Amino acid sequence: MDFELNEEQKILKKAAAEFGAGEFEEGKEYDRKEKFPWDVIKKAAKQGFIGVLLDEKFGGAGYTVTEKGLIIKEFAKIDPGIAQAIWSADFGAYIVQKHGGEDLKKKYLPKVTSGETVMGTAISEPDVGSDLASIRTRAVKKDGKYVIDGNKMFVTNGDVADFIIVYCRTDPDVKRGHKGLSLFIINTDDEGYQSNKLEGKLGIRASDTAEVSLSGVEVDEGKMIGEEGKGVYYVLDFLTKVNRICTAFFAVGIAEGAFEKSLDYAKEREQFGKPISEFQMIKAKLAEMKTKIDAAKLLTHRAAEESARTEGRLANLNPSIAKWYAGEVAVDVVDEALEIHGGYGYMEDYDIERFYRDAKIAEIYEGTKEIQKLMIADDILQR
Ligand SMILES: Cc1cc2nc3c(=O)[nH]c(=O)nc-3n(C[C@H](O)[C@H](O)[C@H](O)COP(=O)(O)OP(=O)(O)OC[C@H]3O[C@@H](n4cnc5c(N)ncnc54)[C@H](O)[C@@H]3O)c2cc1C
Repeated sequence: MDFELNEEQKILKKAAAEFGAGEFEEGKEYDRKEKFPWDVIKKAAKQGFIGVLLDEKFGGAGYTVTEKGLIIKEFAKIDPGIAQAIWSADFGAYIVQKHGGEDLKKKYLPKVTSGETVMGTAISEPDVGSDLASIRTRAVKKDGKYVIDGNKMFVTNGDVADFIIVYCRTDPDVKRGHKGLSLFIINTDDEGYQSNKLEGKLGIRASDTAEVSLSGVEVDEGKMIGEEGKGVYYVLDFLTKVNRICTAFFAVGIAEGAFEKSLDYAKEREQFGKPISEFQMIKAKLAEMKTKIDAAKLLTHRAAEESARTEGRLANLNPSIAKWYAGEVAVDVVDEALEIHGGYGYMEDYDIERFYRDAKIAEIYEGTKEIQKLMIADDILQR
């Protein structure tokens, strides 16, 4: 396997790094105030960093998940919170492009790539997280429309988006299981949509997270994405082919950023009359961090490369391996990075404190690490 970047990818990676270095300076403030970085989102859209998987006719770049991942990684190295807000600005756009009707695509996708708005995808519910088969939100057909009732939890962009995709049960006879689940686009100014921004997150605080209540929200049939009852396939395809791999790139970026800060600090900080980088235990930490990051990066590129060349269904194995391992590496690396910074690392003046808080989410969303391990094992056992 050859994961050497091609010339276009190298240029893109450099452009993303330069954009982040120039535009993410206020990351600490957005984190402290839990403020959504609209101005940076607009600039990122202008530079073509949002919706990059989409076709050019919708304002995208027609990239594969490798290019999207490289952008995410470079952004996360500089500021994970802002990076999260940018990479989830188009959360679910892939589903609309792949399965939605032409009208939906034309109406909604250009608004996201232009930075006019951001979008979200609401799957989780207050009582439904890992067990996606127990979705309770219902969409009931009535007079040529669907009426949606339910509650969604932890909706990224739920309080700032103009529209979101909602995962609902459309078959009234199915109470549990993967059958009878469908996806709809709803506008956040539709009657019956209510969002409540969730404040006090541990990390990625520039990213918006909300709980959403849907009370008798009426949507036209045309706002169903793809076919009725196929929602589960669309969601799993999105998670496997795109979002778990993007999360892995995000985690690698956080780890790389924390590692580079630690390397610089270890060379500068002196104790016992010499730089701490000369102590063997610090060297061991640096060696372990670097090795883990490289392993996570290779696994992530392997999954991205497989995703790019797979037309149909992608097996869970490689995306889940990448997502689980990269998430764990990010958490391990930020821990050692903070240790290398000593007491200063514990203070918010040093970015490492923020990286430490931001890393944990990579082990939780898009399927927890326990769920990834279950999927890895199930995949192996079925082969
Ligand atoms: C900041 C943030 C943003 C998010 N954004 C979105 C979003 O935009 N859209 C969306 O739909 N969701 C979103 N989520 C939700 C996220 O995907 C869920 O939190 C995650 O899938 C876990 O679900 P849960 O929190 O209900 O935990 P639970 O499913 O209740 O799990 C609790 C614990 O039990 C473990 N567990 C559960 N089942 C098993 C099992 N079978 N075997 C072993 N262990 C198990 C889990 O691994 C975990 O450790 C977001 C969450 C956060 C925190």
